[in-house]
Amino acid sequence: MSELENSGYKEAAIEALKKAECDIGDIIKITSKGKNYEGILIPRSELGDGNVVIVKMKSGYNIGIRVTAEVEIEKVGKGTKPAFASPPLPKQNPSLPHVVIMSTGGTIASRVDYRTGAVRSAISASDLHGVVPELSDIAKVDTEIVFSLYSENITQKHWKELAETVAKRIESGVDGVVIAHGTDTMAYTSAALSFALQNLSVPVIVVGAQRSSDRPSSDAATNLIGAVKAAGEAPFAEVGLAMHESVSDIATIIHLGNKVRKCHTSRRDTFKSINGFPIAKVKDEQVIMLTNQYLRRDPSKRLILKPNFSEKVALIKFYPGLDPAVIDWYVEKGVRGILLEGSGLGHVSKFCFDSIKNATSKGILVALASQCIWGRVNMNVYDTGRDLLSFGVIPMDDMFPETALVKLMWALGQTDDTQEAIKLLKTNIAGEFSSRTLPQEKILEGGQKSGN
Ligand code: GLU
Repeated sequence: MSELENSGYKEAAIEALKKAECDIGDIIKITSKGKNYEGILIPRSELGDGNVVIVKMKSGYNIGIRVTAEVEIEKVGKGTKPAFASPPLPKQNPSLPHVVIMSTGGTIASRVDYRTGAVRSAISASDLHGVVPELSDIAKVDTEIVFSLYSENITQKHWKELAETVAKRIESGVDGVVIAHGTDTMAYTSAALSFALQNLSVPVIVVGAQRSSDRPSSDAATNLIGAVKAAGEAPFAEVGLAMHESVSDIATIIHLGNKVRKCHTSRRDTFKSINGFPIAKVKDEQVIMLTNQYLRRDPSKRLILKPNFSEKVALIKFYPGLDPAVIDWYVEKGVRGILLEGSGLGHVSKFCFDSIKNATSKGILVALASQCIWGRVNMNVYDTGRDLLSFGVIPMDDMFPETALVKLMWALGQTDDTQEAIKLLKTNIAGEFSSRTLPQEKILEGGQKSGN
């Protein structure tokens, strides 16, 4: 199939390019207003106009030319398919801790195709090891490809498969596990693993990057080095999420897997601990613990694997004017659980009350987390909250909506009995809720304790 179909170009441009028998990567000549532009045809840039054809010139600059009836396009030469030669793997030191790096896709496992300028999800865990040879100085690295997916395509089934793959490796005796993952939904996966992998003996660190590993500004190497160092040596045995601590390349911070959220679309320090603090950081090749409240690494512990997640769960965000028919629709669809993303301390409009009562009376587990993100729901303060409690709505404490959603999926994945699932929801499984509210001002700093 012609790469034109996936190039992002629109009708007029595609038609003109097809007529000239040009494909992405071909060398083409465009004549517009009496001027010639020759270069490599590259795909449309993400936000570019679909009828402006982009050519990478010899100078390295890209130029865009709008396709009109007057514009002529000619193919000058055939393009070559991009090829990536993985660098040779560095020598392993058997005396170092044994860490397995699993790749699931995302930017950290992508590279820029400099011929076209596009980012492709193309490199495996083993390639990652090759492009970051320093890893061999901190661990005996083993690699495994689990998926090659952008993280927006990862679902509950993938969480299950990933948890089972990690479990096998832990049972075979590795000292730590690193999972390279797309950042968009990385915190959902780390939360899922925190529920699925209980009584861990070693750290499991999910890691991502905002810029692919071959860009000069990439955060992939620093994050990966930090993650491998923590997986191999850190004294904790929790599911963590490793990313840049700040915008500079100085340190990797490790957040607890179910208390962390992607907060910025593009910054390298996009992840922040919410309603909690990071557990550790890796700086100057040292793992520095930031708390003593963590589960200890202990090779004698036996992993408890609970990898099932229900797919019959819906997230409904309350907003002024929400049509309660949305709730009824999910009930008719046969969901087993609904997470309401309520306002403030834990409210939704009284217009939703009948639909919520109908849902709980049918045995559907309805839980509520606050869209405020920081703080905890307290449904005893106002009568709206009390009414919701009286209908059987379960408050999700200081869990922000994504963790609450994953926990609801997990709880309903463990049992068919709603009451049993409610018990699980109310049990602190992996540090996902805090027994007391921490000082707000510190949490709003982004979860970083001062002085560290
Ligand atoms: N959307 C992609 C993903 O989450 C790429 C973004 C990233 O990895 O940072 O996998």
